[in-house]
Amino acid sequence: MTTTSYAIALGSNRPGRHGGPRDEVRAALAALDGVYAVSPILTTAPLGPSIRAFANAAALVRSPLTPPEMLARLKAIERDFGRRRGRRWGARVIDLDIVLWSGGRWRSAGLTVPHIAYAQRAFVLHPLAAIAGAWRDPWNGRRIRQLRHGVDRRRPRP
Ligand code: ATP
Ligand code: MG
Ligand code: MG
Repeated sequence: MTTTSYAIALGSNRPGRHGGPRDEVRAALAALDGVYAVSPILTTAPLGPSIRAFANAAALVRSPLTPPEMLARLKAIERDFGRRRGRRWGARVIDLDIVLWSGGRWRSAGLTVPHIAYAQRAFVLHPLAAIAGAWRDPWNGRRIRQLRHGVDRRRPRP
C-alpha cells in the first residue's frame, strides 16, 4: 500500500453544531484520518458588519487514498458538518480543500491539485507555511514560505 501526504486547507465562517467557526475547524481536524501536523487556527476579521469572521487552518495528513478518494472523503465530512452545496464562496460551516499532494500534480473531472488558487491566498499560505514551509509547488518549484512572502508583498496597504 502506497502512502502519500496531503496538505489540506480548512476554513469556516458559519457556526455549526460544534460551535463557532473555530470550533468547526477544530472538529474537522479531529475528523481527518492520518493527521501528522496541524497549524495554528487563524482568524480573519470580518470586512464589514454583515460579513462573518473566517477561521482557517492547514493540516498535513498521510493517506493511502488517491486524490479523488481523498476529495470524496473531504466532501463526506463537509456534508456531515451540514454544509449545503451550491453557492461557491458563500457562508459555510466547513470547507476542506486539497492544496498539495506529495504525488505532485493531479487533474481529473472536478479535481485539480495543487489547488488552482492557493498561491494567491494569504489565508491558505499563512497556516500552511507554519507546518510545510519547505514543501515545493510542483509547477514552479517555489517553496510555500516563498509563496507566502509573495502574497504578503502584494497585499494592498490601507
Ligand atoms: P475554492 O475552490 O475557490 O476554494 P470553494 O472551496 O468554496 O472554492 P467548493 O464549493 O468547496 O468551492 O468546491 C467546488 C468544487 O471544487 C468541488 O466540488 C470540487 O470538485 C472542486 N475542486 C477542484 N479542485 C479541488 C481541490 N484541489 N480541492 C477541493 N475541491 C476541489
Ligand atoms: Mg475553498
Ligand atoms: Mg472547497
